[in-house]
Amino acid sequence: MMPRDRLRIAVQKSGRLGDPSRELLSRCGLKFRSSRDKLFCFGENMAVDLLLVRDDDIPGLIADGVCDLGVVGRNVLDEAALATPGEMPYRELRALGFGGCRLSIALPQDEAWTGPQQLAGKRIATTYPNQLADWLRRNEVDAQIVTLSGSVEIAPRLGTADLICDLVSSGATLAANQLRETAVIMQSEAVLAGAAEMPRDERGDLIELLLRRLDGVLNVRESRLLMLKAPRAALAAIVDLLPGRPLPTVTTIEGRPDDIALQCVCSGNVSWQDLEAMKRAGAQGMLVLPVEMMLA
Ligand code: ATP
Ligand code: ZN
Repeated sequence: MMPRDRLRIAVQKSGRLGDPSRELLSRCGLKFRSSRDKLFCFGENMAVDLLLVRDDDIPGLIADGVCDLGVVGRNVLDEAALATPGEMPYRELRALGFGGCRLSIALPQDEAWTGPQQLAGKRIATTYPNQLADWLRRNEVDAQIVTLSGSVEIAPRLGTADLICDLVSSGATLAANQLRETAVIMQSEAVLAGAAEMPRDERGDLIELLLRRLDGVLNVRESRLLMLKAPRAALAAIVDLLPGRPLPTVTTIEGRPDDIALQCVCSGNVSWQDLEAMKRAGAQGMLVLPVEMMLA
């Protein structure tokens, strides 16, 4: 492998993770010469390039040193890690908060669920044979794994399996195929993955920088700036209702001595119920704004 001085990040070319991955990297200040149809995107303002690939290829690209980092579902990363027993070739550096789903066992809707033991002797269709095998082993169940490359959810109707083990997010696909989610094998979301060993050259410094910026973006993602006005007499009651108990800044309003303006950063979302409760306590003109960046 030729030595490289530029960092290379693999992201999904299209599909569920493609756009959110690139959006997250751009929020970290990375600019790429955009070429959506091409495999390679050159980083214009930092020595960081993108490789646009199928998500299933990302663990292998990291393991082979072709890419230093990758944005990939934990489901894909763990499946690849289980395929190389003994060593742990990858490191999950950060969970990224999008692409959330779970790997679950699903049964035909009319079958009762009594627990893992009822799967003994059954045929289970999946594209995640390693994680399924691992889960079956931990539950001491002997079942037959039918490995498919896609369209797992129709296997029970086709008669090629009795039940399935597949990714679920809303559950709509399962319902459309008369299946019902039972045991959850793992919780997944998009993660930033790297090799078990960090590169010790400039690329290691770039990874450190990227992780710091990523933390800055991820930490404020759920934060909201809340602004409101209220009678000064209602202040204590409203402060009690601020979601997450933040420290508010309270200022006077010119020409209205009995009223105040309040501003605070709430970590976590602000709901309609929160706003309605504050309104009942006397708050007016409430504004909730997303937070773009935060540097403590
Ligand atoms: P590719 O062409 O890159 O191989 P794909 O069809 O394998 O695409 P997608 O369907 O885009 O991939 O899914 C990518 C990832 O999105 C999954 O590995 C998983 O981590 C996540 N994901 C979130 N919700 C779901 C869902 N309901 N079904 C499948 N994947 C989901
Ligand atoms: Zn894929």
